[in-house]
Amino acid sequence: MNSPATPPARALRVALLGCGNVGSQVARILLEDAENLGRRAGAPLELTGIAVRSLDARRDVDLPAGLLTTDAEALVEDADIVIELMGGIEPAKSLILRAIGHGATVVSGNKALFAQDGPELYEQADAAGVQLSYEAAVAGAIPILRPIRDSLSGDRITRVLGIVNGTTNYILDQMDSTGASFADALKAAQDLGYAEADPTADVEGHDAAAKAAILASLSFHTRFALEDVHCEGITSVTADDIAAAAEDGYVIKLLAIAEMLTDESGAAGVGVRVHPTLLPRSHPLAAVRGAFNAVFIEAENAGELMFYGQGAGGTPTASAVLGDVVSAARRMVLGGPGRTETTTGHVPPLSIDVVRTSYCIGLEVADQPGVLARIAQIFAENGVSIETMRQRIHQGGPDGGTTAELRIVTHRAPEASLAATVEQVAALDVITAVSSVLRVEGI
Ligand code: NAP
Repeated sequence: MNSPATPPARALRVALLGCGNVGSQVARILLEDAENLGRRAGAPLELTGIAVRSLDARRDVDLPAGLLTTDAEALVEDADIVIELMGGIEPAKSLILRAIGHGATVVSGNKALFAQDGPELYEQADAAGVQLSYEAAVAGAIPILRPIRDSLSGDRITRVLGIVNGTTNYILDQMDSTGASFADALKAAQDLGYAEADPTADVEGHDAAAKAAILASLSFHTRFALEDVHCEGITSVTADDIAAAAEDGYVIKLLAIAEMLTDESGAAGVGVRVHPTLLPRSHPLAAVRGAFNAVFIEAENAGELMFYGQGAGGTPTASAVLGDVVSAARRMVLGGPGRTETTTGHVPPLSIDVVRTSYCIGLEVADQPGVLARIAQIFAENGVSIETMRQRIHQGGPDGGTTAELRIVTHRAPEASLAATVEQVAALDVITAVSSVLRVEGI
């Protein structure tokens, strides 16, 4: 049995390196949601400083005075947890190594650094016995690295297929849905802020390749580097390619693929590649639209699994970063793997009556004037508004006349109001039967 956690003597000191798209949102949430995060972590998380290049640059968040600093090295030396969100190789790498050297736990979202120098960083962290987490480095908000590393560690992954670059998925999706050329779709992506002024890293597949190396390393328990990844971008995909694929029932996606293979001699190995790929429209990854990301995993025992969500953006990515921070803090406070669940929420369960949902109601009614008005009145009296109503007339009712079948889909309303509406409608003398009542979600 777990023994109750002893409250820590002091707060955990958190140093943030970078206050850009992601760092600013991590800072905001750390400050705004400090109480919740501290409860889940098992210790208060104290943001001790944020390292930036320029103290005068405009920030997306209101920060307490004195938090920003240009002295990243001093900040790192005084921290229990270092969050690296500067990007690039240097000085991010040296600062992470310095943090490891001081015994600090490190959280990062830096795919470029982990794809290039991951093995060195893991070795240093292992040697120092400190934790190094980088969930945000692949597919932004989507929890994918921890499921691969932890949840699937009792299985054998055979193949990973990922849409791990939102910019290229947006461009290909635009080309597919509007018939646009690559150049026009890229321009649209740039206008919307999905693509940078220099889109090379995205459209040439380099960003996806870095993520493929990380996914392959974790999936196959072997360290793969960027140079192990075969990489082709989407710049040569034409509107004609997309149209021809569509005619044959395919969609073109830039996929990161890592899979177990055997070579000519029968020896097992792993192929890691990034390239534009035709996928049947029926494949779950074909439905991933716009700038969204998804990772599809095939495992020997689990079968097929799919993870879907926002692959970029300051706030979504901050979610993954803070998940790593809370998890790391828990380990530091409690030792070992930490608690398997937290019960600090104290949120009561509520009755289904207060759930807001939509109903699809099938009714068989007498085909008489005024019936629809009587039904509509009951909906209105219960505060339930109707989204759609469809009527079908059948010959040969009980008295040889006609009957009507109604299918009504409601807007969202409290379950209690919906249930009362159905009960009152069912009691009307013009209703022959309530043929079905099903709840509707996702509209
Ligand atoms: P960003 O907007 O460019 O922000 C970088 C921050 O780091 C800035 O605040 C910058 O300071 C600071 N910085 C850079 N070099 C520095 C140096 N030498 N010394 C001190 N501070 C320095 O980057 P981002 O988009 O937030 O991305 C951060 C990391 O998260 C990257 O590794 C990226 O790959 C990863 N990531 C980003 C996303 C996303 O959606 N953006 C998604 C997943 C992962 P100044 O503000 O003073 O210039």
